[in-house]
Parts: sequence; structure tokens; C-alpha cells
Amino acid sequence: MVPDLAKLRGDFPILDQKVNGKPLIYFDNAATSQRPIPVIERIDEFSRHTNANIHRANHYLANKTTEAFEASRETVRRYINAAEAAEVIFTSGTTESINLVARSFGEAFVTAGDEVIVTEMEHHANIVPWQMMCERQGAILKVLPFKDNGELCIELLDNLITEKTRIIAVTHVSNTLGTINSIAEIILKAHLKNVPVLIDGAQAVPHFMIDVQALGCDFYTFSGHKIYGPTGIGVLYGKRKWLDLMPPFLGGGEMIDRVTFAKTTYNQLPYKFEAGTPNYVGAIGLAEAIKYVSGLDKQAICGYEHDLLTVATQRLKQIEGLKIYGEAPSKTGVICFNIEGIHPFDLGTLLDQLGIAVRTGRLCADPVMDHFGVENMVRASFAFYNTFNEIEAFYKALIRLKAMF
Ligand code: PMP
Repeated sequence: MVPDLAKLRGDFPILDQKVNGKPLIYFDNAATSQRPIPVIERIDEFSRHTNANIHRANHYLANKTTEAFEASRETVRRYINAAEAAEVIFTSGTTESINLVARSFGEAFVTAGDEVIVTEMEHHANIVPWQMMCERQGAILKVLPFKDNGELCIELLDNLITEKTRIIAVTHVSNTLGTINSIAEIILKAHLKNVPVLIDGAQAVPHFMIDVQALGCDFYTFSGHKIYGPTGIGVLYGKRKWLDLMPPFLGGGEMIDRVTFAKTTYNQLPYKFEAGTPNYVGAIGLAEAIKYVSGLDKQAICGYEHDLLTVATQRLKQIEGLKIYGEAPSKTGVICFNIEGIHPFDLGTLLDQLGIAVRTGRLCADPVMDHFGVENMVRASFAFYNTFNEIEAFYKALIRLKAMF
């Protein structure tokens, strides 16, 4: 079933504009997605009528803001089906969520000679914090590779996990290859050996429903700005059994119970991990984005996004000299590619002249570039508000640009 595109696109005012004299075609959704009117209006309305700091004062605006912030936490809890709201921690985004776990879990549970497993297809945000943690704790970082088609070599995981493995951190969906990883299988294998698993859900949450309890993951992370919400807000879901044992990440206001110079005691969950004034405006905007996507027919949207991917892949494959990186059978609407003889930056700049926004560069995934032996790629990534006509225009633009070289 095709969603009502005219209505959907009408919800996203940014799409209705010309760039360089051409109708904007926004194919950079994996970097950040656009915001629907309810999110824009909620933030505007909140800023006009309600704004005050949370959990501190006892006046009308402060109470209303606190209520809205905690209601947003409950909206997130319901959306990902966490067992309790205290397991939902607001952060600035996926990057901070992963850094929080790497720092805090590392301090509590990782010692010299221990091992941490990541995969070759991770975003830098799910590599570097673990590397830093391994350096601090004297631990060893191990890497699960992927095959040329973009699928993880899950069959190697059993041998990679040893009695020294303390945690596995893996992306749900790759931001370059688009692969939807079999995380249920990974979690099962890890849990058989009592190893907890962190899932980087930055590229998954925008595309399908997540049930953290059904998955059984120990930590799940995502960013508001990739799920049609604001920037500067993200989520760390963590099982209470871990969060209770983990030390605070940042120190400051709100995360404390009582401060004396002799000894400070810490607040309960989730506040223990929310030092300082949180981005409550962002949290409220994120909750509005979640309400918006919850109101869509997720199955229809998912099917439609998959059709966009299929058509775009077919079209791009007709272009001689175009190579697509990552063609796993289970994939979201992300296509990374290069065209022989054209530098990806030139391609990106020329596409922009035609009103088409794509991402170019190393895509925060150096190991993926190294795997394929390339310096850079072009990435087109789709959302449910993109259309088959836009894909056709993209294809024709590539043909035209290729002829110029
Ligand atoms: N992981 C993945 C898979 C991503 O795609 C991104 C964003 N490109 C991140 C982590 C980092 O997200 P953020 O910049 O919102 O913290």
C-alpha cells in the first residue's frame, strides 16, 4: 500500500522549496531527517508559553515543564517498550549514549586483558568510545568483519566471544551499507555466554518499530534528529540491572542525592545519568516526533521505503561504471556508491546544483572505506516522504552528469 504522499509531504514544509532553481530532492535522511509541522509547532508553542527549568523550582511553569519532560520519557518508554521509564535516559544523542556506556560500564566491569567486540561496519560513534575505554582499562578491542555484500560474518561470532568478552556493541542498521543486522541472533549468541549487548539504533529507529524487551538487548541508543525530531536530544535505554551498578558518567546538578565535601551520594535512575539542565525542549520535541510517527501506518511506510530502495537500486545499476557498496538481502533505504572516473565530491556538488542533496565523504565509517579500498563514497538515503519521481530525477541527473565527464 502506498501512503498518502501529498498529505505526508505537506507535513514537512522544508521539502516545498527550490534549491539552485530546482525543486529540492532531499536524499540525506540518514544524516538527519526533516521535521513535521507538529514537532515544529510543539517546540514553538512550548517556547512561547511554558519554558522553565525542570525538577528544581516549584512554580507553575517549572511544574508544567517538568510534567511535559517526564511525559516525554514515558512516550519514549512506550515506543521502545522499556520495562520502566527509569530505564530511559535522555542524552544529547547516540554519540553521548554510547560514550556514557563505554565510560561507565567500562569503569564498573572492564579490567586489563578483558575484551570488547564491535563490528567492521560501525559508525565511528560506536568504535571510538570503546577504543578509548579499552585504552583506559587495558582491554582489547576485537572486530567482527562483514562480507562484501554487506552482511556481518555472524558465523564467526561464536569463536570471537571468549570468557574475557565483557560487552558486544553492534549497529542495528549500518549507516553506509544499509544492512539490517540480525541483532536478535547476535543477542542470543552473546547471552548464551552471559555477555551483554549494546545496540546502536541510530539508523533503525526511523524505519521500524523497536521492542527492547522482545530483543532482550542490554542497551539501545538512538538520536532524536534521525526520527523526525530535534537535534541535541537522544536516548539511552539500559536494563536497570546494569544501570544500577554503573557509576555516573557526568557530575553536577540533578545527578546527586546529597553533596558534602567529604562524600557525595547519587540520585536514583534515570537522574543519576542526567547531570545538569537536560535538553528538555528537545525531549518534548522528540516525544512529539514519536507521536507523529506512531500515527503513521508503519507497515505501509516500511513497505514503501523498501520499494523506494528497490527502484533506486534497479535504476542505479543501469548506470555503467556505478558501483553500489552493500547489497545485503535485508536493507534499509541507504545506497552508497561511486561512479568510475568521477570524484564523489564533484558528484555531490553537481547534484546540489540540480537541487539534489546527497551525502559525500567517508560517512564517519573509515573501516568501511578501508574494506572496499576507497577514500570516499556518495550516499543517497531515503525517507517515507521521498517519491519515485524524485528517484527518476536522481537517475536522470546521474546519467547527465556522467556524460559530462
Ligand atoms: N551511529 C550511527 C549508525 C549513525 O548513523 C550515527 C549518525 N550518523 C551515529 C551513530 C551518531 O549519531 P549522532 O551524531 O546523532 O550522535
